Formats: sequence, C-alpha cells, structure tokens
Amino acid sequence: MQILIDRYNPQSDSAPYTQSYHLIDDEIGEDTMLLELLQRLRIQDPTLGFRSSCQEGVCGSDGMNVNGNNCLSCITLAKPLGNRIHIRPLPGFPVIKDLIVDMQLFYDQYKNVDPYLKSDEKLSSDPEHEILQSPEEREKLDGSYECILCACCSSSCPSFWWNPDLFPGPAALLAANRFVIDSRDITTIDRLKSLDKAEKTFRCRHIQNCTAACPKGLNPSRAIQGLKHKIVKNRS
Ligand code: SF4
Ligand code: SF4
Repeated sequence: MQILIDRYNPQSDSAPYTQSYHLIDDEIGEDTMLLELLQRLRIQDPTLGFRSSCQEGVCGSDGMNVNGNNCLSCITLAKPLGNRIHIRPLPGFPVIKDLIVDMQLFYDQYKNVDPYLKSDEKLSSDPEHEILQSPEEREKLDGSYECILCACCSSSCPSFWWNPDLFPGPAALLAANRFVIDSRDITTIDRLKSLDKAEKTFRCRHIQNCTAACPKGLNPSRAIQGLKHKIVKNRS
C-alpha cells in the first residue's frame, strides 16, 4: 500500500511537499484503522507530525483530509481506502507541522457563541435547586450536545474557508443552536439577536459539506436552518 502524506514544516521547509511511504499489504487487516498505519509510519520516520489522543473517536484530535474527505483517522478503516491513500492536513487551517494544524480561529469562533448555559443566577447558584426539563425538552438537545469539536465540519465549509474570522462555522453554529433550544437558558432572544448578521448565520449556503463530513453523524446544516428560522421569527 502506498500512503502519500502532504508535509510541511514552516520552520525549515520553503514549501509544502508530498512524501510517499509504503506499507506491506499483508500486515493490514480488515479492522485496521488508518491511525494505526500512521503510527507504523512514525516508527519508520519519527519526523512525521500528526495528532492523536483517545484513539476511540471521542477526543476529536486526529481530524485529517483523507482521499479528499475529512475524517477521524482512529475510526476510519484503512482497507476500504484503497491501495493508494492521500492524506492532507484539515483544509482551511494554517499548518503547524505536517498534519498538525492551528485551530485557534475554530476555538475562537466556538467561544464567541457563549457555549454554556445561562440560567437564572439565583437558581443556578443554589446547589439544592434543580432546573428541571421535561423529557421532550431534553430530547430536543439530541444531535447537538454530542459534538466533539474535531473541526471536520468547519474545515470542509467553503463559507468558513473564506471568512474564518467572521463566519462562526458549522460547529460553532451547532453549539449556538444547542443553547438557543435549551429550555433552561434565559438568554434566547439575546443569543438570536447576536447571530442575526449577514456574515454570521446567513453566510451558510446549505451545501451540507459539514453534515457529510461529521464523523459523529450530526447535522450542523439542519441546525443552522432551524437557527435561521428562529432568528427571522425573532425579528417580528
Ligand atoms: S451547510 Fe453551511 S455550514 Fe455546512 S458546509 Fe455548507 S455553508 Fe458551511
Ligand atoms: S459537528 Fe461533527 S464534524 Fe463538526 S466539530 Fe462537531 S463532531 Fe466534529
């Protein structure tokens, strides 16, 4: 199997380049994940840079672009990718080294939507007081809270590529919607007002690259659509 990896060390390379590695096919099983192959390659070549942590698709640290699609290498089977795999860093982010990208703008955009519950201060500071939700209210949060912030979605979004400093991106908007629909949050109207800007929620064109890229099966595009409806309703 041939594995091509786009490499770049801004500290020492004048330009990015693609390096070709080879692994013996017989040593790649039906259940071998792509991350395992990268780990074998790093034994061959300790200079190869990539991130990984939990190796179970939970921490979201090993997002990368594989044969043109964003995915998490730890939960991506190697065999179905074919005998020639091309791995690139997540698109749209500055490269720190090889497959390691700088996600600061992604985290800044997430932080900007205040991704935490704002409830009545008196009630939330009282440990004896529960802020209850009905099963139906709780169910509305399904499909939002499971996000692991891997950035596979935002990194596949053209609107985020062009304006990562203005457009929050699908992951941040999914989080924004998660708190807008939470029955315990008391700042819904303020949240909707702050998202009611052409360069924010309405920069999404619903191409759905984000939904196709999400390794957790979430649907940021649908959440953004819901957000748009609520924003427009909030105007009247
Ligand atoms: S649907 Fe919206 S958020 Fe998702 S990739 Fe397209 S423009 Fe980006
Ligand atoms: S919505 Fe999906 S792809 Fe986007 S950051 Fe969350 S888990 Fe990753």
